[in-house]
Amino acid sequence: MYENLLANVPTDLWIGGKWRKSSDGGRFDVIDPATENTVASVASATVDDAKAAVDAASAAFPAWAGKKPRERAEILRKSFDLIMRDAERLAKLITIENGKALPDSRGEVAYAAEFFRWFAEEGVRNIGQVSVAPASGARIVAQHRPAGVAVLVTPWNFPAAMATRKIGPALAAGCTVVLKPASDTPLTMLALMPILEEAGVPAGVVNVIPSRSSGKVVSTMLHDPRVRVVSFTGSTEVGRKLLHEAADNVVRPAMELGGNAPFIVFEDADIDAAIEGAMIAKMRNMGEACTAANRFYVQEKVHDEFARKLTAKMAGLKMGNGLDDGVALGPLVNKDGRDKVVELVDDAVKKGAKVLTGGKLPNGKGYFYPATVLDNVADGSKMLSEEIFGPVAAIQTFKSEEEVVRRANDTEYGLVAYLYTKDLSRGMRVSEQLDFGMIGLNRGLVSDPAAPFGGMKQSGIGREGAHEGLMEFLETQYISVTW
Ligand code: NAP
Repeated sequence: MYENLLANVPTDLWIGGKWRKSSDGGRFDVIDPATENTVASVASATVDDAKAAVDAASAAFPAWAGKKPRERAEILRKSFDLIMRDAERLAKLITIENGKALPDSRGEVAYAAEFFRWFAEEGVRNIGQVSVAPASGARIVAQHRPAGVAVLVTPWNFPAAMATRKIGPALAAGCTVVLKPASDTPLTMLALMPILEEAGVPAGVVNVIPSRSSGKVVSTMLHDPRVRVVSFTGSTEVGRKLLHEAADNVVRPAMELGGNAPFIVFEDADIDAAIEGAMIAKMRNMGEACTAANRFYVQEKVHDEFARKLTAKMAGLKMGNGLDDGVALGPLVNKDGRDKVVELVDDAVKKGAKVLTGGKLPNGKGYFYPATVLDNVADGSKMLSEEIFGPVAAIQTFKSEEEVVRRANDTEYGLVAYLYTKDLSRGMRVSEQLDFGMIGLNRGLVSDPAAPFGGMKQSGIGREGAHEGLMEFLETQYISVTW
């Protein structure tokens, strides 16, 4: 089934424009979560390999930073075209290593490619300022220059998009990068390297080092004085560790961390539209998304209709190997991820939640978990404060606007919130009271390369996408001039 797809996928380290074995010969297995079969064995970077990758990125930096923005932009634009040319192959690879259903993977590839197109356009708009100093009359020339070598660390849930959301702006800004992809899903980024090479990305500008020793490898790079940016997407727990590490050399951090999204349905909402939005906000990627709706708050009057319609939709999803036709729900990424979902559902049910659909582990191979709706989830259930990261919708009711805002904000996270109402003044009023970096107002999807993606509170620091995404990789330098 996989042989053709995997035949030409590289499995070594990509450093300085060449494939290399790891310095100690170490390798690790990549598992297909639908079958539990090993599909590849990938080189595991050591601390020495990480140093070599920083050497390569550092050596490539002056020439890349010195290129004209338009030259870099043309290469990024070509990368977009070539990714779209190879979209089907890349989508299947994502499904094989991550498990998500093929339509989800196709969506991810298109989204991932868009970061190259967007930043090809944004990279030529590195605009500074000139002003007159009020007291001295000197000219203040403020301009932005590439920050230097950037270390990028990415999670397994979007093996392509979480990486291109960083590589695109970094390269547009003139930075060179070392990417450490997640160990569960290293193949997609390795497969991207020949594509970037074909697009004209010079050797050493992008280096990819999968590793089973993530902690040591990333720490080594963050203590190398040539590294000036660390851009991380993953859990808040690991993000905190990296912030501590980054402090030692005052490396500039960009952190995209965990979420605990509320999904609020007011009684005046278009319920069918809310269901459609809920299915996207909950089920994109089988719920394995930082943006996944984690807590459904439905106003009392429309609760029964919402719960009934959501249950019907969830129960209708076909579960199976993500490569098969018609499948909407693939397996979760690994056994730990599935065990966590089982634990959270058991806890909620013990505390009184009613299972409207799903909730039972299927027999057989693969880390499958069915689409599940839980009603009357009790306050104090763990799934209300922790990321579920699975296909489970937890419903509670609310009475008033003031109450739901308070409950929605009662979390250390602040990535995204969704709300449905036909009353736009209520929608805007509530949006402005929600402490979340992104709001989906009558929309179940906020991700867009042209929009500033990121969280408040412990969901992160900085933004990806939009013009802000470019600024994460630029340093402002001011020249005081007089003549
Ligand atoms: P994770 O465990 O934090 O891992 C993320 C990355 O960090 C992986 O590459 C991992 O490598 C690496 N890593 C783990 N421990 C490390 C350490 N001590 N030092 C340096 N690197 C280390 O997160 P995950 O389970 O892959 O992803 C799920 C999390 O990501 C969720 O919390 C989700 O909300 C968050 N997320 C956030 C966004 C956002 O934009 N805000 C987007 C997507 C996901 P290994 O794979 O080798 O362990």
